[in-house]
Amino acid sequence: MSVTDALPASAGLIPTAPRMRSVTILGSTGSIGTSTVDVLRQAQAGGQDIRIEALCAGGRVEHLREQALALRPKLAVIADPAGYAALKEGLAGSGIEVAAGAEAVVEAAARPVDWTMAAIVGAAGLAPTLEALRNGGTVALANKECIVCAGALMLATARQYGATLLPVDSEHSAIFQSLTHPAAAERLCLTASGGPFRTKTLAEMKGMTPAQAIAHPNWSMGAKISVDSATMMNKGLELIEAAHLFDFPEDRIDVLVHPQSIIHSYVQYVDGSIIAQLGTPDMRTPIAFAFSWPERIAITSPRLDLVKIASLTFEAPDLGRFPALRLAREALRMGGLATAWLNGANEVAVAAFLGGRIGFLDIPAIAEDGLEAYSALRRNLAGEAVPEYSEVIEADRAARARAGQRICELAA
Ligand code: NAD
Ligand code: MG
Repeated sequence: MSVTDALPASAGLIPTAPRMRSVTILGSTGSIGTSTVDVLRQAQAGGQDIRIEALCAGGRVEHLREQALALRPKLAVIADPAGYAALKEGLAGSGIEVAAGAEAVVEAAARPVDWTMAAIVGAAGLAPTLEALRNGGTVALANKECIVCAGALMLATARQYGATLLPVDSEHSAIFQSLTHPAAAERLCLTASGGPFRTKTLAEMKGMTPAQAIAHPNWSMGAKISVDSATMMNKGLELIEAAHLFDFPEDRIDVLVHPQSIIHSYVQYVDGSIIAQLGTPDMRTPIAFAFSWPERIAITSPRLDLVKIASLTFEAPDLGRFPALRLAREALRMGGLATAWLNGANEVAVAAFLGGRIGFLDIPAIAEDGLEAYSALRRNLAGEAVPEYSEVIEADRAARARAGQRICELAA
């Protein structure tokens, strides 16, 4: 038997003419959403039979209309009710159903499909993602805030309904691809670019503008995750995401700053081996993997040229300048609803920063304040059971209200 014969039968290319697959994209007009559309169109061009059930977006009516006319979903949903009339008119005569509002997004996610891309930004994606899990299909998870808020609940829901939850975040996809022997994994390591302010002093960071914060050196992404990368809260959220997805203790998950974003993350095994996944910083690769898993499909993302890159460098993260990483570890250790509080406070702080209401360094300060508030509150709470959906929503609401108050005080 040759070495390749010894590989599992699944280790091949996805067959060109498999059964039809139905797909829904939540957050189709965003950065991940548009990359997903690109991957699916490439897969269709390669002979895959893919039918789009629903496309859902927050507010970009014109973009959603164009996508709907190109992809011909059965349903197009705009979360912002103000966009309903324009979308309805734009799709008149197309035969595509149109709906609007947060409830309609949840209803769209509840329609049974084989594969759902969960790419809404923020905790707003939690209800539809849970609904998609309840369908028992495959959910490709880009929306990290929902697993940060309700990791235990999401995994329990996936188990209960027999759904398959697959990572899209590049680091988690890298770990998933490198996790050949889960029981023998000693440590997981999430790599981080360090963001646009990696070499800046705290004094320099203090005056950074939203435009400077969203100018990420390696990745082109939505505004919220770009700011999270600048504060390194993104890596903190990813640490929490990894602890849930891979059921791994926080003290065995490392963060390593790697400015070139070529090694997307790695697993270290008990025999000293390290298995890493490498590639160009292009989200189409992890999206394609989450779509084709356990096989692979061919896509035309840029290929890695290591000669051109020449050197890969690494640094330890600086928790003094980037306290968000410390906060994420504290929240994980605290348990209960701590990560929901951290996330809610951070989302409100990032929105306020993008709106020009607070400074860059106020973001981690507001996130920390949210975590402290939860810590004080939970002394009066009993039990460590998996938080229910209503408890997560209440924690998110309370964290947002408190962060809003802090922002008013800062802006006064
Ligand atoms: P984005 O802002 O570009 O897109 C967000 C999408 O969600 C848009 O389609 C928007 O219309 C939609 N949306 C926003 N609020 C909504 C609501 N209330 N209801 C329904 N739809 C709503 O963001 P993005 O960069 O694509 O990121 C999406 C998610 O994926 C985030 O959680 C992010 O952390 C995660 N992620 C992104 C990247 C990346 O490279 N962009 C990488 C890893 C993980
Ligand atoms: Mg990532």
